[in-house]
Amino acid sequence: MDWLVSMPKVELHAHLNGSIRNSTLLELARELGEKGTIVFSDFEHVIKKNDRSLREVFKLFDLIHIVTTDHKTITRITKEVVEDFAAENVVYLELRTTPKRNDSIGMSKKSYMEAVVEGLRSISNLDINLSSDDFDKCSSTNEKKIFVRLLLSIDRRESTESAMETVNLALEMRDVGVVGIDLSGNPTIGEWATFFPALKFAREQGLSVTLHCGEVPNSVEIQSMLDFLPGRIGHACCFQDQEWRKLKSSKIPVEICLTSNIRTETISSIDVHHFAELYKANHPIVLCTDDSGVFSTNLSTEYALVSSTFGLGRMELFELARKAVDYIYAGKGVKMELIKVFESVGRTLE
Ligand code: 5GP
Repeated sequence: MDWLVSMPKVELHAHLNGSIRNSTLLELARELGEKGTIVFSDFEHVIKKNDRSLREVFKLFDLIHIVTTDHKTITRITKEVVEDFAAENVVYLELRTTPKRNDSIGMSKKSYMEAVVEGLRSISNLDINLSSDDFDKCSSTNEKKIFVRLLLSIDRRESTESAMETVNLALEMRDVGVVGIDLSGNPTIGEWATFFPALKFAREQGLSVTLHCGEVPNSVEIQSMLDFLPGRIGHACCFQDQEWRKLKSSKIPVEICLTSNIRTETISSIDVHHFAELYKANHPIVLCTDDSGVFSTNLSTEYALVSSTFGLGRMELFELARKAVDYIYAGKGVKMELIKVFESVGRTLE
């Protein structure tokens, strides 16, 4: 496990509020409990519950949002989440979050995202690269270096107009590291047709797009999503034969979130997870955490899980991590830098 922690890694599917530290979540909930805004004991019970169905997870997110959605807290969580990924040698992180509007506290989607960016800028113990192509442009001489890029999520509860607002915000924020759009939120809610115009517009404007796809059985939607040819998809759990064939011929990279899929019972057990089939078929895949706080995991643990379940050795795990560089949404310059990082570690393994 120590080796997996020190191995450089790439994280492409991490939701900001789902990656919140448990200790921070409990601290924030306790404070709101003291103010009488929530009943802390109810909240504590839900946070500490380990296995949750997909439906229960979305209930938990609504609770998390009650305690996390103010500017100061968003700034704090962003800082902590990036520090946690860097601590286990994630060298490139694409962090996704849903810009939220809350008129009662004067929050717009834009001010929410500004709070996120402030969190990134407040990190002083890391060399954090937010928008240039080059690690050397980092300002300090700290040992740990990390590229961070942002994806703006559209929640499936949103309307076409609201989704379009998020895409326009992403376009405005490209110079602070926003590289793409994600479609997420409760997969049993909303219609593909609602989001399609905004996602199409995003891509026409040069943003990359990733979609949560096939978390529940929905053949029509899965086929439409694959026909859209997104840059990547997340999960791909409930695919039928025809959809597997379509996915494999499209070569769309899949963000694999093992612990999340098992905890939410989207996949019945780890040994039947489609990781094995896609890995064997040499289909592009990348291991990710999804919600490291909610599912009590981290990226090193996900690699360890692959090793213990599917028998991958050190070189194979390293190759898996290295190949993820091909699927990042940042530009060529960043890719070159990451290739150098992996090459230098790879030499020590030969
Ligand atoms: P946030 O966008 O607030 O930073 O992160 C939490 C949100 O990410 C959740 O409310 C939900 O919309 C989305 N999310 C987190 N995990 C999952 C998941 O496993 N599946 C889907 N579809 N959405 C998720």
